[in-house]
Amino acid sequence: MGRITLDKVTKKFGDVEVIPPLDLTIEEGEFVVFVGPSGCGKSTLLRLIAGLEDVSGGQIRIDGQDATLTPPAKRGLAMVFQSYALYPHMTVRKNIAFPLRMAGMDKAEQNRRIDNAAKILNLSDYIDRRPGQLSGGQRQRVAIGRAIVREPAAFLFDEPLSNLDAALRVGMRLEITELHKRLKTTMIYVTHDQVEAMTMADKIVVLRKGYIEQVGSPLELYRSPRNVFVAGFIGSPQMNLITGAEAEKHSATTIGIRPEHIVVSPSDGQWKGRVGMSEHLGSDTFFYVHDTGLAESLTVRVSGEIELKANDTVFLTPEADKIHRFDDKGLRVK
Ligand code: ADP
Ligand code: MG
Repeated sequence: MGRITLDKVTKKFGDVEVIPPLDLTIEEGEFVVFVGPSGCGKSTLLRLIAGLEDVSGGQIRIDGQDATLTPPAKRGLAMVFQSYALYPHMTVRKNIAFPLRMAGMDKAEQNRRIDNAAKILNLSDYIDRRPGQLSGGQRQRVAIGRAIVREPAAFLFDEPLSNLDAALRVGMRLEITELHKRLKTTMIYVTHDQVEAMTMADKIVVLRKGYIEQVGSPLELYRSPRNVFVAGFIGSPQMNLITGAEAEKHSATTIGIRPEHIVVSPSDGQWKGRVGMSEHLGSDTFFYVHDTGLAESLTVRVSGEIELKANDTVFLTPEADKIHRFDDKGLRVK
């Protein structure tokens, strides 16, 4: 259960084509993340799958059945939004029970499912509280609980953690990943945050302007970005992109080197430059090197601490087997 296939799915709002014909298969039990800049069509694509928007063309199949015209409630999918949309006057139990009550499910089965969801989500102790008496993370768990009890073929998450503070986001990220391991149900998760995508996904779908730029595992995208866009989007700090004579030496229009794949020396190396700003994170140091003649600045990441002062001269050497090459169309050269 939970295999979803999109076949030339298209979406237009008026004359504007937001999703050009798009093919994608989501396998049963996969954790798939849609990632891309704001406005690239992630939510629209998720809403098309959910049935909250009608497609302008193409076909959506769920477990082999044509679901293109199936109303949302009959698709067997459960959506979790950024705003939790809990009923403030209802207890946690009643909030979680809501979709089951609407479906007229028998009371004993409702309770079995609610107690099970509460246990999975560590909400058992809060089951009689109202949302106002819960933390942000607990509220988000109630919203997820309401999805779990429906026992859907797939969970659809649209930026569910955007309202939470940074520490809580990391915690919830782990909880949702754990939840997926336990339930083994297909999950589609939308985010603009590439770190969330890298840490959570089995499969990442990178979108830009409604187009799929690349589909692959986090490490495939990190190691072999298909084009300059994916190269710049996946990885933090961003990959350095260099054009001009240096790229031509590698028979490329653009070469890319990640900040963590540059060796630093005070005395010798391939590229000479001047240290600008440094960012000391303790575990890592990021610093920016100017006047290399290659790009306005190059970002370098070293593990741990490094003693560098602004305006120091440094020499940088890219690790030869970590250089990415792209052609004049921005596509990866093998
Ligand atoms: P994302 O979730 O990646 O930020 P969206 O899917 O929300 O992007 O939006 C994709 C594009 O579609 C945007 O340009 C947005 O303005 C447009 N769009 C979304 N919903 C509508 C709508 N109901 N009517 C018209 N344009 C829309
Ligand atoms: Mg969105």
